[in-house]
Amino acid sequence: PQIKAPKPAKVDPLAGIGHVIAVASGKGGVGKSTTTVNLALALRAQGLRVGILDADIYGPSLPTLLGLHGKPGMGEGRKLKPMQAYGLSAMSMGLLVEAETAMVWRGPMVMSAITQMMADVDWGRLDVLLVDMPPGTGDAQLALAQGTKLAGAVIVSTPQDLSLIDARRGIAMFRKVDVPILGIVENMSHFLCPDCGTAHAIFGQGGAEAEAARLKVPYLGGVPLTMELRAASDSGQPITARDPEGPLGQIYQQIARAM
Ligand code: ADP
Repeated sequence: PQIKAPKPAKVDPLAGIGHVIAVASGKGGVGKSTTTVNLALALRAQGLRVGILDADIYGPSLPTLLGLHGKPGMGEGRKLKPMQAYGLSAMSMGLLVEAETAMVWRGPMVMSAITQMMADVDWGRLDVLLVDMPPGTGDAQLALAQGTKLAGAVIVSTPQDLSLIDARRGIAMFRKVDVPILGIVENMSHFLCPDCGTAHAIFGQGGAEAEAARLKVPYLGGVPLTMELRAASDSGQPITARDPEGPLGQIYQQIARAM
């Protein structure tokens, strides 16, 4: 009798990962990537093995935020080795293709690029993989949420009405595919004046907390708008890496514990 070679067992690329958690926002520019990086560092400071997958293909900011340079190397089985920064494993489309290339991709190409990025990276053993999602609630986001076996999703929003409406859509999207909402983070909740130390509620106050209560999802905490945070991010030295026990580092640690 003809003996057939056994089919290679399907290896789940995410098998060595405890929890895959999406960080999402309804629209761009609300600080989703900044939040992802600082939450990852906060989880790391709590002793967990953490990775970040930057799936925000249209505006990959992970290389800038973590100060990553060069291209990721190839490991066993022709899998990409994630890059390392501040104790985190990191992979981003921004490390693989030129910004102008991904910008013109259509939905299906974005999806296949992200799926490939998940499958072809040797993450090794991780307790948590944070996925920095592309902003919005379209088909690509929905497919990504469905295809990734997400343990949960964190929604980032500013206190502004418009951003909150978008966050609401994000929550509805994750609910549709049965992904538990771990909670809402309010970014830029107030402006901390570096000169006088006064807090100014530029985008209004308490919007995300009230919205979280209305939607019956946990409110994870608020992060102020500060010059320090922006400067740290731009210089590739995130605030929670620089000073995990400082005031901002502690805010991110509290949010990470509440997740
Ligand atoms: P998104 O991923 O939602 O597009 P980013 O995380 O890239 O947003 O943030 C957009 C810009 O806002 C960046 O320049 C970032 O440094 C800045 N930023 C984000 N959150 C804060 C904050 N809390 N304080 C100051 N600047 C912030």
